[in-house]
This record gives sequence, C-alpha cells and structure tokens, in this order.
Amino acid sequence: MVDFSTRVEAVSISGIREVFEAAGADSINLGLGQPDFPTPEHARQAAIEAIEAGKSDAYTSNYGTESLREAIIDKHARDNDFELSPTNIIATAGGSEALHLAMEAHVDEGEEVIHPDPGFVSYDALTRLAGGKPVPVPLRDDLTMDPATVAEHVTEDTAAFVVNSPANPTGAVQSPEDMREFARVADEHDVLLISDEVYEHIIFEGEHRSPRHYAESDNVVVVNAASKAYSMTGWRLGWVVASEARIERMLRVHQYAQACASAPAQYAAEAALSGPQDSIDQMVAAFEERRDVVLDELTDMGLRVPTPEGAFYVMPEVPEGWIEEVLDRGVVVVPGEAFGSAGAGYVRLSYATGMDELREALDIMREATRAVN
Ligand code: PLP
Repeated sequence: MVDFSTRVEAVSISGIREVFEAAGADSINLGLGQPDFPTPEHARQAAIEAIEAGKSDAYTSNYGTESLREAIIDKHARDNDFELSPTNIIATAGGSEALHLAMEAHVDEGEEVIHPDPGFVSYDALTRLAGGKPVPVPLRDDLTMDPATVAEHVTEDTAAFVVNSPANPTGAVQSPEDMREFARVADEHDVLLISDEVYEHIIFEGEHRSPRHYAESDNVVVVNAASKAYSMTGWRLGWVVASEARIERMLRVHQYAQACASAPAQYAAEAALSGPQDSIDQMVAAFEERRDVVLDELTDMGLRVPTPEGAFYVMPEVPEGWIEEVLDRGVVVVPGEAFGSAGAGYVRLSYATGMDELREALDIMREATRAVN
C-alpha cells in the first residue's frame, strides 16, 4: 500500500466529531459550533440574483471579487478602525481556509506556532499540516491568554502565535490592553500574530479591538469570516487581511488549492457586510439571554464557571464522571480535552440552541451533577 504523508499522519479527525457520532438521534446537541439563526434574507437574495444573472458562473479573481473586497474594506474601516486596499485581502473558503493560508505561507518545517490551550482545534492541526510544531500555552483563570505567557514561550524557532478573541471553546474576550500587548509582542519579537476574529461581533461585555489596529509592523494577519456573524457557516466564505507582501505569498497557496472562493457565496457575503446589520444585534441579544440562563444554572449547581463574555460557548469546570453522566442522559457536550490537554476537567457547552432545549439540557445536567456528587 502507498504510505501516507508524515504531515497527514500527524493529525487526526477532531474529537468533537467522535462525540457527535456517539450521540443518539434524539439527543440535545450542545456541541455545535454554529449559530442557530437563518442567514439574513438580503444575503440569500444577493446570491440568488447573482446566480440568475449569470454573474457567478465563472472563476472570480483569485483575490475575490472587487466589490466583495470593497465591502470588506468598508467593514474594517467601520468596525476595526483600520484602512486597507484591495490587495490586502483574499476571500477564502471560510475562516478555516484563511487560517490554513496563514500557516502555509509563514510556517517552515520544524518551526513553532504558539496557540491557546484549550483552543480551537484547527490551530494545532494546521500547524502540523504545515510541518510546524504546536506550542500550546495555558490560559489565565478567566480563560483569557496572557500576552506575557506568549512572550515567555517565544523562541528562535517561533514562526507565529495565534490569538482568538472572542474565543472558541471558552467564550473568553481579550481586553483592548491585552490586544495592544499582543501587537507589541509581534512587533518586538518579530513573530507573526495570527488574529482569529471570526466571533468579533458576538460580544456581551467589553469591546473587541483587533491587534492590527495597534501593530507598528506588518506582523499581524487577521482572519475573519461571514460564518458566525451572519450565520453563514454553510456558505463557506471568509477572508484574510495582511500586508501586500504577505497576501501575495498566501495567494500562491490559495491559487493552487482553491482558485477562488465560491462566487455565489461572495455575492451573499458582500450583501451581508454592506446591508443592514440588525440581524447581528438580534442574534447577540438572544445569545446573551441564553448565556445568562446557562451561567446562573451552572453556578447554582455548584460548578465553577468562568464568565464567558462572547461567542456562544461556556466552559465550566466539571467533576470526574460528569461528562459521561450527561452524555448517557442524551445531552451532547464536548470534553475540554478535545481542545488541548489543559482543557481536561472542563467541558464546552454551546448555547447556539433554542431556549426550551437549553433548559431541558440544564435540568439533565443538574441530575448528572447530583449523580456524581
Ligand atoms: N476560528 C474559530 C475560532 C472557529 O471556531 C471556527 C469555526 O468553528 C473557525 C475559525 C472557522 O470558521 P469557518 O466556518 O468560517 O471556516
């Protein structure tokens, strides 16, 4: 048999998928990483119109359509206070491809990539696929990442570090002061900062500041997507923002791996970014209400729950056997270890599910908590 590459053998199918596969058909799924809201109607319509007008039959520019990149430029000026030109952007197949491009273009064989532990599963896997070495760093008690801890882990072999705020799986939000510090670490240590901002709008306390706003060098690459903000995970549309030189290198990977992002999705994302933004406010209000219920209930059960200030996840510390008791009772949750070894003893709950289901799941968790205490 033909052998497989060392790179692909270094990664495995995500632990999240394993939990889903073990779940029964009528279980309540608190494992999902996507909003339970529809894509805004004007975004859907824009794709339909583009298809009907025959505008989406052909490849677009490798960078993405000019009009989408203009909408992305306006978005960053509006929300993040930085100016871009069309050659600072590549439209990608979701935030996932954007992360992949950043790693492939910047990580050499054996180089290190620092990332939060627990952290989004792709950081470890994409580092390995690029031939690099993941360097997980522990989080503060409130589950944010300390810029000083990142700086301590920088070595001669560090290619990049990843910042993710608001974060998956913790819901933690880095303060503007932390973001300024992360930018300083990138500038002063001359390492790349990959800033994963896909949850930037889903924030209840504090404010989101992109480290790119503070950086003095071109060492920050921003990853973003329409996926979470506009409930468009199925459309597969994200983007990467960086200096022209970095974009040119990432474009080399994108050109051969993808050619261009899906054209209908580009039209939908352009409409989402440039149309009315009230769907975000409605979604965030619903998430905040659920977050409050989940936080109250879990705390009342006696669990320690760092307060999530964004995204739609909560990560309580749970006693031994708790996860099994919950899974056995038909509620799908993801063990913290799926996000890194420092996630052991924690569980990730996603509250991207309706309030009734959520309350039912919380009652089951209460029973499970009694069973293990
Ligand atoms: N970054 C984080 C932190 C995520 O949680 C996800 C998806 O769950 C992504 C990136 C990738 O998102 P996309 O669906 O746009 O590829």
